Amino acid sequence: MNELIDTIEKKNGHKNGHNGTATQAEVEDLGDNHIGTSLETPMREDAFALNDEEKMEQIEGHFRQIMEIMGLDLNDDSLNGTPKRVAKMYVKEIFSGLNPENKPRVALFDNKYQYNQMLVEKDITLFSFCEHHFVPIIGRAHVAYISNGKVVGLSKINRIVQYFAKRPQVQERLTKQIAEELKSLLNTKDIAVVIEAEHLCVAARGVEDVNSKTVTVEYCGKFEEDSVRKEFLSHVRG
Ligand SMILES: [Zn+2]
Repeated sequence: MNELIDTIEKKNGHKNGHNGTATQAEVEDLGDNHIGTSLETPMREDAFALNDEEKMEQIEGHFRQIMEIMGLDLNDDSLNGTPKRVAKMYVKEIFSGLNPENKPRVALFDNKYQYNQMLVEKDITLFSFCEHHFVPIIGRAHVAYISNGKVVGLSKINRIVQYFAKRPQVQERLTKQIAEELKSLLNTKDIAVVIEAEHLCVAARGVEDVNSKTVTVEYCGKFEEDSVRKEFLSHVRG
């Protein structure tokens, strides 16, 4: 594992405080301001060199160390199983969307009803995690599309939202990733995605604002037209 950490440090240039594109201070500033750097989730080339079992074993060990460094007594029955639980939760649950193998398999159907209006799937429950602080982002997603001949089972839209949410995320990227996935899946540009969410890193630390919400939108194709977008938003608000 130390070798892996060494490689990470060398790749990111942390040892000399510069990663080739941004100084360490700039990187910290990006994180503090919740700004992401790319549409794709930044992943290492060897992201899947370890299988899930190996990842859980290593995370468990490292999380145990974090707890011990903080001074917690892991001999306590209540704490003893925490590292294992956290490791399993990371790999199998809250960050399972990092692994493309967990991408939902979505069947497409012909649009037999010739339903050519917008279809809105609203109030999709969303749990994600801020990639800058690893604390929850809790919110709702509203997704719409206009069929280009194919339709998708409704629950699959929820599953696609959940898949991309189960990663360390930046809300803007999450919004775009969902839109891009639906565009390529349904072979249409006519997609809208709105996410409204509360970031616990804003509510529970930092400025400690418990009332603010972040809204991100992605309107593509026909949803860029004023009237179509207004109709979509009236459904979302209604
Ligand atoms: Zn954050």
